[in-house]
Amino acid sequence: MIINFTKRVRKLLSVGIIALVLVASGGVYFYNDKKGIPSANLANEKEINRYTIDVVFDDESKRLMCNQNIEYVNNTKSTLDKLYFHIYPNAFSKSEFAPFEKSEMKQAYPNGFNEGYIDLKNILNNGKKMAYKVSGDKNDILEVELKNSIKPGNKVSIDMKYNVKIPNSQGRFGYGENTVNVANWFPIASVNDANGWNLNSYETVGDPFYSDTSDFYLKILLPKKYKMGCTGKVVKETSDSDKTLYEVEARQVRDFAFILSDKFHVDSDKYNEVNINTYNLNEELSKDATYIAKSSMEIFSELFGKYPYDTYSVIASDFFIGGMEYPTLIMIDQSLYNKRDKFLLEYVIAHETAHQWWYSVVGNNEISEPWLDEALTEYSTILYFEKKYGDKLAKKLIDNMELQAKSYRSEDIFKPVTGYSNSIEYSLNVYTKGALAFHEVRKEVGDKVFFDTLKEYYSTYMHKNVSSAEFVKLWNDKGVDIDKIIKEYK
Ligand SMILES: [Zn+2]
Repeated sequence: MIINFTKRVRKLLSVGIIALVLVASGGVYFYNDKKGIPSANLANEKEINRYTIDVVFDDESKRLMCNQNIEYVNNTKSTLDKLYFHIYPNAFSKSEFAPFEKSEMKQAYPNGFNEGYIDLKNILNNGKKMAYKVSGDKNDILEVELKNSIKPGNKVSIDMKYNVKIPNSQGRFGYGENTVNVANWFPIASVNDANGWNLNSYETVGDPFYSDTSDFYLKILLPKKYKMGCTGKVVKETSDSDKTLYEVEARQVRDFAFILSDKFHVDSDKYNEVNINTYNLNEELSKDATYIAKSSMEIFSELFGKYPYDTYSVIASDFFIGGMEYPTLIMIDQSLYNKRDKFLLEYVIAHETAHQWWYSVVGNNEISEPWLDEALTEYSTILYFEKKYGDKLAKKLIDNMELQAKSYRSEDIFKPVTGYSNSIEYSLNVYTKGALAFHEVRKEVGDKVFFDTLKEYYSTYMHKNVSSAEFVKLWNDKGVDIDKIIKEYK
């Protein structure tokens, strides 16, 4: 996500930069055709969870009627007698739970608070009811008891029937005047890692998500008037006089989101075998959005390694917080699509696209170690501007960041999201100071070691979840004490 984007901060950041972009955009696009490094093998090393979900969207009540099957694979070393899922819609059930800061509530709910929740009907195994309970700070954790425990390497098939009420809200999950944003909406298995089950509620600051790479197969029935941008790719589309049924496949992704609108202007292009689609609410800027998406895809593929999917969607949304990343899909605040904010639009699209490498393909715990994806993504955004417009603009952006970081109380960039008191403090430390720390590392080790290590990081941890310790070790193995460089950077 990008959150250092309140109107006030945006102004600060863009002063002096827009002119440079305008000058530089006529300049040399010096990216050559040399081949990116080969991507890691997409073949499964182990079995992964498989979600099959049938969804019917009722436009009038803004509800999703869902039947979900999950084949859950026990990839832990111990026998499991319970499974845990996040049921994030419940974090929207009361205004005191809503994952927005107090100062954001008006923007999040322009028409006043409106509830969202998940209504579980039943949970079955082989047609038999399973015992379950709802817990967590925001009633957003689901605990399912297994009658027969599952041994390591074995799996269990669970059917869930539920309805999801979408709130009238301008966040990741909600609907506005233009779009219906369906994100973090279905029961998604909690990650069971070296620390056991990760059962964090939907926090206010940061992108409080952590999940395992899985396969998704969805059937989504919508009123015909809607166009849909989604994770993965539509493999079949059938319509009658008033409804369209989309069959969607999304393999080896860590989440599934979809966004609807009856106002989208869809524009398309291709980068190698990747079909890039932009879903725009302002037709005038649609070509620009596509061009930025394509350049981002090209630059990051060259810098870090091949994007492993064949679709990428950039979706203008009723979303007031800049941009947000999901696998093969990003949502972008529709208000950024205007000529005046073109630099910001480019900044946000580039940032969210970099998350396809750092979050979507290489995953991490975004609650306990948000710097791992956000600092690297923010620095990748600078790299985008450097590669596209040259060193002068990149330097200007770095100088701006240094100015912002210095004018702000210094904090540790390694804290969990809950360690920061608000999103500005979070953003200035984790994003801005974090990006500057990566810049320090690059200066210290030189471009060759810096980019070779990032490429190795990407191909080694593709589709996995990585920890800070593993990231630091990768650098240590190359003789780089990244921990020391970052900690000493103030
Ligand atoms: Zn981000």
